[in-house]
Amino acid sequence: MLDVNYIREHIEELRKVAQLKGIQVNLDRWIELDQARRSLRIQVESLRKARNDYSAQIAGYVQQAKQELANETKEAVRTVNAELGDLEVKLRAMDEEFDQIMQLIPNRISADTPMGQSDADNVEIRKHGDIPVFDYEPLDHIALGEKHQLFDLARGVKVAGMRNYFLKGWGLHLHRAVQQLAIDLLVPRGYQMLDVPVIVREDALVNTGFFPLGKDQAFEIQDEGKYLVGTSEAPLVAYYSDEIIDVEEPIRLAGVSNCFRSEIGSAGRDVRGLYRVHQFAKVEQVVLCKNDEVVSDRILQEMTQNAEDILQLLELPYRVVAVCTGDLSQKNYKQYDIETWMPSRGAYGETHSASNVLDFQARRSNIRYRDEEGKLQYCCTLNNTAVATPRILIPLLENHQREDGSINIPKALRPYLYGISEIRI
Ligand code: AMP
Repeated sequence: MLDVNYIREHIEELRKVAQLKGIQVNLDRWIELDQARRSLRIQVESLRKARNDYSAQIAGYVQQAKQELANETKEAVRTVNAELGDLEVKLRAMDEEFDQIMQLIPNRISADTPMGQSDADNVEIRKHGDIPVFDYEPLDHIALGEKHQLFDLARGVKVAGMRNYFLKGWGLHLHRAVQQLAIDLLVPRGYQMLDVPVIVREDALVNTGFFPLGKDQAFEIQDEGKYLVGTSEAPLVAYYSDEIIDVEEPIRLAGVSNCFRSEIGSAGRDVRGLYRVHQFAKVEQVVLCKNDEVVSDRILQEMTQNAEDILQLLELPYRVVAVCTGDLSQKNYKQYDIETWMPSRGAYGETHSASNVLDFQARRSNIRYRDEEGKLQYCCTLNNTAVATPRILIPLLENHQREDGSINIPKALRPYLYGISEIRI
């Protein structure tokens, strides 16, 4: 959520931002409501003041035994109360509509975000590692998984429907190993690990900017007003809601959780294998820091570097892209995606997503800190994937396969896999 004064002063800029991000929001109605609410508030306040004045007068008349005057004034109070009641109902309805529009207004966009319509327009900013060249027909992760009994997709569908899977044997060990490797990289870098609730109240998702626009992506717990989280970013940020915190030193958190996504809107896309599933596990970085664009940008670079270091430990080729305006979500000010090389796609596929949302989430969640002058300020929040699995198993299996069908285990992962150096039948 943006500051109301900021919106007033930047309405034309925000019209453009909404258009660039592809968000439908009626800013003309927002302007109307903003003005109408202000004048209605003034009327309500003056009626409340009149009522108080009348009440004081009545008390005086009663004391002076001027019963007739007291009765006349009581009549005037009744008229004021009736008028006030009508205006308060009107004001509540306006506030509600105003809040609904506020929830749709997008965050501003950083000046260095490239212009574009979709992920095809994202701009590569650096690349790392060599793309493997196979002089044999390489297998895709599905064939490798079947060969080594790493997962069972058919039974996943039988038991749980489309986009579900069982992980088995070394598949499960790999899934846990990459998470532990990410945790062991983050902890010495000052990240506090949290196991988070994966069922949260609706307001945690509204206040962190996942709702209302992303509501169709979430699985609802019927009749509870609660939802399964799509990422631990939501409970990690909501953890501090309505609190005054100390961000003299940025607060670095990492959540470990299963994530659940309906993937509505992805019908027919990535239906084979482990790329787009309903349930996956993620180690997620979240940082809360001072409301300062230089500081928050430095943190964004740090969190991106953490993810890159994990990919380097996994010996995977990847690239970092600056996400363009049309691919930026409502809450994001600036975003980098990291895409890892997936031989079966003959392309890089997104495995990490790093975002700076400035104070957008903190305003809605009411998370503040005291600045040097003791003034309360909303903090900035940032997030990035450390590792998301099983998607990361796709490049891991496919890039590290050998001609004889065995799979090399990168050195850094071996201690998490009982010391094995390869998966072989
Ligand atoms: P996001 O929180 O949407 O930025 O996603 C972060 C990362 O989670 C992505 O880069 C993927 O690695 C992973 N991810 C997101 N959605 C899915 C999904 N439906 N299935 C598997 N992995 C996913």
